[in-house]
Amino acid sequence: METNVKPNHSIHCTVNECTNHCGNENYCSLGVVTIGTHEPDPTLCQCVDCESFSRKDHEYLSFR
Ligand code: SF4
Repeated sequence: METNVKPNHSIHCTVNECTNHCGNENYCSLGVVTIGTHEPDPTLCQCVDCESFSRKDHEYLSFR
């Protein structure tokens, strides 16, 4: 995928479905991201979320 975004090599990420993902490189393009949890008492990696995630499809659909 062609992209003009600059990878932030301090934030490795494989979530290609996110608007902020660099596409051809597994990095985030943001300077900073917010990490949070949806659990009251997180114990596993799965309990933790990138709260800066924005799905590509949603952005695409919002401009139609
Ligand atoms: S915002 Fe979060 S999920 Fe999206 S590319 Fe950056 S680190 Fe990955």
